[in-house]
Amino acid sequence: MFITAHFDSGNIDVIKAEEASNIELQIRRDNQSDFYQWFHFKLYGEVGVDHVMHITNAGQSAYPDGWKEYSALASYDRETWFRVPTRFDGKTLTIEHTLEQESIYFAYFVPYSYERHQDLIQWAQQSSLVEHVFLGPTLDGRDMNLLVIGEPDDTKQKIWVTARQHPGESMAEWFIEGMLARLLDDEDGAVRKLLQHNVFYVVPNMNPDGSVRGHLRTNAVGTNLNREWAEPSLEKSPEVYYVLEAMQESGVDLYLDIHGDENLPYNFLAGCEGVPCYNERHDKLAQLFKQTLLAITPEFQTEFGYDVDKPGDANLTVASNAVAERFNCLAFTLEMPFKDNANLPDEDFGWSANRSAQLGADVLSAVYAVANNLRD
Ligand SMILES: [Zn+2]
Repeated sequence: MFITAHFDSGNIDVIKAEEASNIELQIRRDNQSDFYQWFHFKLYGEVGVDHVMHITNAGQSAYPDGWKEYSALASYDRETWFRVPTRFDGKTLTIEHTLEQESIYFAYFVPYSYERHQDLIQWAQQSSLVEHVFLGPTLDGRDMNLLVIGEPDDTKQKIWVTARQHPGESMAEWFIEGMLARLLDDEDGAVRKLLQHNVFYVVPNMNPDGSVRGHLRTNAVGTNLNREWAEPSLEKSPEVYYVLEAMQESGVDLYLDIHGDENLPYNFLAGCEGVPCYNERHDKLAQLFKQTLLAITPEFQTEFGYDVDKPGDANLTVASNAVAERFNCLAFTLEMPFKDNANLPDEDFGWSANRSAQLGADVLSAVYAVANNLRD
């Protein structure tokens, strides 16, 4: 038997791997941080033999509740990721699978590789609608990419979408892939109409260093980027620094920040009710946005989500709040599940890459519904 995580977004430490019936593993912490939950590893074993993998530090991970009613992902071909029997006793997460082929990958959620990220950017760049902007270097020396879709001019509204501040939330980049595919489809009438009066600014991956390093929540130096929006710095959070600078230059009329939630088995939006500038106009737009999504897809719901901030109580270091306040605009954090949508469960695959991409395309219909009224 052999287990390795020495590849893009790999994360696991092997404690014991002598017997298939009792494999002991631990998830590595994010560099210079206490956060951990993301795992991704490859196992070689004996075909036909049941492999029992115990992740013994799961109970102290960032979100222990995330393991309840959670099933791990596995893949033989690195394309189809299916759920495998998984249980959690409060301390240890146990994954069990009988090998059908000589080697298999396991992950917390369907990985979105750095290779695929690079392909996505270059694919988008081929469109005559797209300007590909280099924002600046990350701390590990990677490039921060911004895609500008449509012809910018002052009269047009500016719609910003960022994803994957938390690198372990790979569903966020699958979402962006689906959204971009629709945005660049020149036969989609709603999108054609949208692009007459709006320009999209899309950052498909806010945290490439953390993604490659196999982090859950932080960048190369252990910074949680979604707490840096009040005062980003080139030393700790250049990713946010560059994006905020570009936002300042373009202006923002609508902002969506795409995430995954470890605990809740639902898709939901967290609004900016707690920011000082929040008013009736924002609220009307927010309701219309949600009502539109509710009307077009059973993958969205409004019953379950985060507690709504009281007026003035918003944490202004969080991206959506910071941007809503600074630009006096409609802004949301959009959360997708690691588990499944409990309103529409799928036992074999759970919440998946394809469902994330479909939601990314569908969200454009909600954008369409509010797009004429984003400014005062
Ligand atoms: Zn997140």
